[in-house]
Amino acid sequence: MTKSARPSAINTPFDDLGLAVSCREPLSHHTWLGIGGEAEFFCEPVDVDALAKLVRRCHESGIAFRVIGGGSNVLIPEAGFAGLVLRLSAPAFGGIDVQRPAIVAGAGAKLVHLVSAAVQAGLSGLENLVGVPGTVGGALVGNAEGHGGDIGARVREVSLMLPSGEIDLRSGPRLAFGSRWSNLDDGIVIGCRFELDAEDPDQLTKRMQKQWIVERSSQPSGTRAVAMMFKDPLGTTAESLVSQAGGRELRLGEASVYPTHANYVVASPGCSSDDIRGLIELVRGKVRERFGVDLTPQIEMW
Ligand SMILES: Cc1cc2nc3c(=O)[nH]c(=O)nc-3n(C[C@H](O)[C@H](O)[C@H](O)COP(=O)(O)OP(=O)(O)OC[C@H]3O[C@@H](n4cnc5c(N)ncnc54)[C@H](O)[C@@H]3O)c2cc1C
Repeated sequence: MTKSARPSAINTPFDDLGLAVSCREPLSHHTWLGIGGEAEFFCEPVDVDALAKLVRRCHESGIAFRVIGGGSNVLIPEAGFAGLVLRLSAPAFGGIDVQRPAIVAGAGAKLVHLVSAAVQAGLSGLENLVGVPGTVGGALVGNAEGHGGDIGARVREVSLMLPSGEIDLRSGPRLAFGSRWSNLDDGIVIGCRFELDAEDPDQLTKRMQKQWIVERSSQPSGTRAVAMMFKDPLGTTAESLVSQAGGRELRLGEASVYPTHANYVVASPGCSSDDIRGLIELVRGKVRERFGVDLTPQIEMW
């Protein structure tokens, strides 16, 4: 060991916390697109206390941090992320508790599990989200939308961890949801309470199945390496604008527009983040040129 090397026991700014923080985690393993660089530090905390310790340390030491949910709506640059990436995969963050007519869910729970739990319990209001990939946390932050409604419409209380490590319980006017937007982007969503309506479980199941068929037919199939490119502008769909602007045939490097669902980009083997980013800009430019509409990217570029 050279004089300047750090002792092997202290490798990260988090070592004295006694938590399992790893270094240089490939974030491609945690995203749908399967591309992008490494997280400088990475941790899947076991509970809220562990999460608070990590967040506080970041806050005090000026270390940037981010949460990754299901990774279905993020584009990680090739340079990766300089800071700590957190994933709420531990059971402490994945609970789904039916408390009729409410459901309390952890941010790390899969949205698909939440929707099935609600339908099985005969509680309606979330079934329109069937088929939307990702976690409850990711869906809340981006106000995920299905056929006929968004998740925000059913949210009554959110527990958010602030960068100081404190928990902020938000409800009523302190909660705001808009088109693929919420005011929950200033902290880490820990969990949430939904208020739902009682309905016959058989009827609800049939409705969900119908919606599932519609959702499946509107998504690319055969590969998971896809991402939604743009939010729908008012009064029309991004897919129709991209198609009419001739975007279906576009590709850049190993990134291409999914021909039958033109608001999705597909990453072929060897695809880089720059390919995806460049293609999105190319498609956006075509739509701007043809219709004068500036599409807003749906996928979040880290
Ligand atoms: C095939 C396909 C179909 C899709 N269909 C739809 C659709 O019908 N409707 C729709 O709305 N979207 C759709 N999307 C987009 C995407 O699935 C949603 O935006 C989803 O809600 C993202 O959830 P996630 O857990 O994967 O979030 P991630 O992609 O992991 O993260 C998205 C953002 O949320 C933040 N985040 C995640 N968890 C937390 C947390 N606990 N606290 C704070 N911040 C957090 C991340 O930091 C990141 O900024 C689709 C995507 C794909 C690939």
